[in-house]
Amino acid sequence: MEKAKQRANGTHILVLPIPAQGHINPMLQFSKRLASKGLRVTLVTISSKTHEPIETQLSMVNIEPIYATYEGADETDLESAIQWLQTILSQNLPDVISKQERNGYPICCLVYDAIMTWALDIAKGLGIAGASFFTQACAVGTVYYNVQQKLLRVPLEEDRVLLPGLPLLEPHDLPSFINHPGSYPSLSKMVVGSFSNITDADWIFCNTFDCLEPEVVSWMRTKWPIRTIGPTLPSMYLEKRLEDDRDYGINLFKPNNDTCIKWLDSKKACTVVYVSFGSVANLGEKQMEELALGLKRSKTSFLWVVRESEIQKLPSNFEEQTSEKGLVVNWCPQLQVLAHRAIGCFMTHCGWNSTLEALSLGVPMVAMPQWTDQLTNAKFVEDEWKVGVRVKVDQGIVTKEEIERCIAQVMEGERGNEIKRNSMRWRELAKEAVDEGGSSDKNIEEFVAALLCK
Ligand code: UDP
Repeated sequence: MEKAKQRANGTHILVLPIPAQGHINPMLQFSKRLASKGLRVTLVTISSKTHEPIETQLSMVNIEPIYATYEGADETDLESAIQWLQTILSQNLPDVISKQERNGYPICCLVYDAIMTWALDIAKGLGIAGASFFTQACAVGTVYYNVQQKLLRVPLEEDRVLLPGLPLLEPHDLPSFINHPGSYPSLSKMVVGSFSNITDADWIFCNTFDCLEPEVVSWMRTKWPIRTIGPTLPSMYLEKRLEDDRDYGINLFKPNNDTCIKWLDSKKACTVVYVSFGSVANLGEKQMEELALGLKRSKTSFLWVVRESEIQKLPSNFEEQTSEKGLVVNWCPQLQVLAHRAIGCFMTHCGWNSTLEALSLGVPMVAMPQWTDQLTNAKFVEDEWKVGVRVKVDQGIVTKEEIERCIAQVMEGERGNEIKRNSMRWRELAKEAVDEGGSSDKNIEEFVAALLCK
């Protein structure tokens, strides 16, 4: 065993996430799983003076920072930020890889975020294997693949869409780039293009688990040898085999840990709705106001994450007026919050990580998707996994009455009980997938074993 580990430690892989919280978290967790099975793993981060990632517990994985500052005119302009990223990484990645070789730890495989298809060319050019890592659901990947192959025409020509492995989807269940073509054109081209050179990748990983998306995973396997490896929560929230793995470990925002947990400690079990729209989504001012009024009307207490860049959209005096029942913070330790006994429901944008986290911790959801894949995830939350309700949108707005109604539906009554029962079942299945011999665990084992044989 020790010998095998020693040999494995000489087998070195480089992991390259997009520097966004929802992309770093799953690839970092995958890195930890690989390291726990004996591989040497180095994760590339982008550091700048204004956005130095805050590292907490990272004993298992080496970090290789690339220092660069995005100097685009507008920080919220995701499209130019991504183009900048491609330039920076294309310039720096070959050096990072050759430096490891000079230090005596040559890289044998580059695991890259699937939307950075050009990273595969860099890997191949340097003679190392390339592994594409999909941070989104297989359902979403399949929709993009069908668009890329022109099997699904955009703009949509029909009002119902039936694709292999997927339930019947209405336009509002499809990723926003498909339903609203023309929004974020280069971002949309990138995600749709994830499949453009997929057959050249040596490995394909997906952050999901087999029984979560059985039909679409089976269908994808008829086309490519995909390996499901999720859910990628820290082990202590799942099967608890990796003792040191209690937290993701890299934060792009500073969480208000003590404030949140102390406040939750003072609440009774299952009485709080946790509200968060992740690290990117921006709510319009009118929507922010309706949400604030909905939370104010609701019987339930709330913990609401409003990022610093969004805080000026809160109605004036909102925090003072609701201080009895609510707490607003800029960022929180989401896993600790979701696992807290006081939380009864999660009002979420249905980012893929947040969705997997709620499923794995058994927290019922109110799905309020904003854009990209969140719309498809919300469809599955409500109709396929039956672990939450999805808000109805009325002329582009979710009203305060609708917010109040959805929270009550998930927290109370027979539908609420059924959702709770389903959530508990998914919690067990998520744990099983990553536990010894589970479907995701086996896929990770096989990857490690194959690298060691080379
Ligand atoms: N998150 C967090 N604190 C917060 C809000 C979010 O730690 O206050 C984490 C959350 O646990 C998740 C990630 O940020 O792992 C967000 O990823 P997701 O895919 O849900 O959404 P995105 O930010 O990519 O839209």
